[in-house]
Amino acid sequence: IAISPVRPIEELPDELISQIAAGEVIERPASVVRELLDNALDAGATDIRLRLIAGGVRLIALEDDGRGMGERDLRLSIRRHATSKIRSLHDLESVETMGFRGEALAAIASVAELRLVSRTGEATAALLLDARSGELEPAARAVGTTVEVKELFFATPARRKFLKSEQTEFAHCLEAVRRHALARPDVGFAIWHGGKLQQQWRALAHATAADHAEIAQASLDKRIAEVMGADFIEHSVPVDHQEAGVRVYGRAGMPTASRSRADQQFSYVNGRYVREKTIAHAARSAYEDVLHGQRQPVYVLFVEIDPAQVDVNVHPTKIEVRFRDGRLVHQAVRHALDLALAPSRALPADDGAG
Ligand code: ADP
Ligand code: MG
Repeated sequence: IAISPVRPIEELPDELISQIAAGEVIERPASVVRELLDNALDAGATDIRLRLIAGGVRLIALEDDGRGMGERDLRLSIRRHATSKIRSLHDLESVETMGFRGEALAAIASVAELRLVSRTGEATAALLLDARSGELEPAARAVGTTVEVKELFFATPARRKFLKSEQTEFAHCLEAVRRHALARPDVGFAIWHGGKLQQQWRALAHATAADHAEIAQASLDKRIAEVMGADFIEHSVPVDHQEAGVRVYGRAGMPTASRSRADQQFSYVNGRYVREKTIAHAARSAYEDVLHGQRQPVYVLFVEIDPAQVDVNVHPTKIEVRFRDGRLVHQAVRHALDLALAPSRALPADDGAG
């Protein structure tokens, strides 16, 4: 057994602290894409353009038409633990924004070259901030923000070595956009890779008021068709159920849409894409009766619940959440799917497709 030499405790330098923290949040280009998308949506963007070069390693540039930042906010935005989204523990207990940790931009700045160009509605010009030099200069831009991330992991070659091929990294970036696009039919998304337009989903009519529920449903179905393929709409049924303060809606694939891999299962809690075992388990149990053997269901499920009933602060990337009462959520999801899938039960399950 090697015994490490006794060494005195030292406090780590700030830059290393940031790089260690960044390791938790920024694993690959898609992590950057996810964080920038969250920020754009939190800023109220309705139109988001993403340009990538070399799978996002050379360049990730995300342009939004959100509310933008003035000089003070721009400077603060790249500092660790600086956020406009929460102020107190009380706010943290019922977060309604995608972000709240105030860490993403700081983390990105510690592992890549980061530049921000932003303009608010009140400003007469945009401002460009170079995170490395801290220099601020006038720039030209409409209201909104452009975040440019270059040479990801240039200073951390160990991380860089873990990256896969450009095509694979691009595929992960595209997956991050799909996850966001499914949840926000009211927002337009466009993605370029190496100068080539890869995907474009236009903003769709959006209505939250109850009397406009059909519009919201139509837009959601259209976006789901765009992102999952028109075929999926044909081979899926709408889900919409509410019980005990939990609403579950979306679309559930019929047995004919099932796949050999569980790679098309999208679940959201209050608009946030999550991988959460209560929902996953409820879905699996609901499908047990309609799917054969190893077939995996396809679904897009949105769970809406009082934010105070969910703890989103359990994972640095927020992909996991914890419910105060998991049983209620489990039952709501199970019942929602049982109701939606009831007609499929009467039919013999189809093993052929997918
Ligand atoms: P968080 O999103 O957790 O607050 P970030 O590091 O991602 O932390 O962003 C820090 C702050 O910078 C945000 O709270 C927000 O005020 C501001 N910000 C980041 N991106 C944008 C954007 N695209 N548009 C407007 N403001 C932004
Ligand atoms: Mg953020």
